[in-house]
Amino acid sequence: MPLLGRRPIGVLGGTFDPIHYGHLRPALELLDALELAEIRFVPCRIPAHRGTPWVTAEQRLTLVRLATTGQPGFVTDDRELRREGPSYMVDTLASLRADFPDAPLCLIVGTDAFRELHTWRCWRDLSGLAHIVVMQRPGVLQPLPPPLDAFIAPRVIHAAPALRRRLAGDVLFQPVTQLDISATRIRALLARGQSPRYLLPEAVLAYIHDRGLYRSPLASTLVTA
Ligand code: ATP
Repeated sequence: MPLLGRRPIGVLGGTFDPIHYGHLRPALELLDALELAEIRFVPCRIPAHRGTPWVTAEQRLTLVRLATTGQPGFVTDDRELRREGPSYMVDTLASLRADFPDAPLCLIVGTDAFRELHTWRCWRDLSGLAHIVVMQRPGVLQPLPPPLDAFIAPRVIHAAPALRRRLAGDVLFQPVTQLDISATRIRALLARGQSPRYLLPEAVLAYIHDRGLYRSPLASTLVTA
């Protein structure tokens, strides 16, 4: 199989409200298992598919920076904060493709986000811009919605080296350590005055406490739209 010879770049978008070990540990495992050149963490400015985040985009970006600084291969990417309007992944991938014309791109999603993929703007175009790598996440049931299933089935590959064969278009399901951690739960703990320690990096928690983030009881009711 001819390889492009370039290691793929991983792209992990999210609200990161806040970032936690359920994002970070699977990302590190993907970095190693798929031999990615790097993983770019891309916090959204305005989430397209859910309610307004509880803290500002700049604060969520800072939390991502604090969590990723010092880990080789982890990059904080602020491009969605520099763009007006809702943060659509198709625009983000197009912008990354322009920046990295010769590198395979891997859009990394958790199982829950993957199941909603067919609701994303121009979702079929995503696979023209990047491979899709699904991190297996606990508590999410199969089967896939029919339109997504039909689209994905012919694109599934079973080995990471194939991701280097072309710039985009494959789908890989990659098992990762199951960490049943969610930002929703962390916000709820903080809103109740309980500690989310050991669910997220100390530096992230220190910033949250320092700025008094997620303190309002309303934060615990903020759920996915
Ligand atoms: P919330 O609880 O507010 O919905 P979240 O914890 O799911 O947030 P997001 O920022 O929405 O975090 O997630 C970004 C990406 O990371 C998504 O693709 C999501 O599926 C994935 N992800 C989040 N938590 C985990 C986890 N514990 N294990 C694997 N993937 C995860």
